[in-house]
Amino acid sequence: MTEDEDLLLAVLNSAPVVGGTRTEQLAGAPGRALARRFDGTGSPDELEHLRGVRDALQDLVRGHDTTSTLNALLDGAALVPEATPTGLEWTLTTPPDRRLAVRVALAWSRVEQEAPGRLRACANAECNLFLVDHSRPGTAKWCSMAVCGNRIKSRTYAGRKRTTPPRKPA
Ligand SMILES: [Zn+2]
Repeated sequence: MTEDEDLLLAVLNSAPVVGGTRTEQLAGAPGRALARRFDGTGSPDELEHLRGVRDALQDLVRGHDTTSTLNALLDGAALVPEATPTGLEWTLTTPPDRRLAVRVALAWSRVEQEAPGRLRACANAECNLFLVDHSRPGTAKWCSMAVCGNRIKSRTYAGRKRTTPPRKPA
């Protein structure tokens, strides 16, 4: 997993469904810990921007156009080049509280460029986790085969057993 992907998935997957309820991990002590793991400060404003970019990207991945929300977040951000003997170095400048959220947007953009279409929401509609599919055929559907994959498969199997005559698989 690349650093970009690590940051992107940590933020996208910070509102998991536990016991049927969406939980919030980008708040309080867990939120501060997550932000600091990626060199953030964990300040309340920073966490608010992180929740904003997360919700916008979750909706975007699910097919809703949230680019205006993202553009508002990106307003005032810039990548500034500086020549070094081996090439240009790019420094991100942003308002301090939005720095980490802008980095999440940059990470999302790089993942989309490097692996187009491979970032997706878990196919379990009751799950709020996301994955980057690295499988060769590109058919991964679940955040985790162990959790969502098996749960849905056993449910489908139980459903089929109840149905008479058995339905043809779709
Ligand atoms: Zn899942």
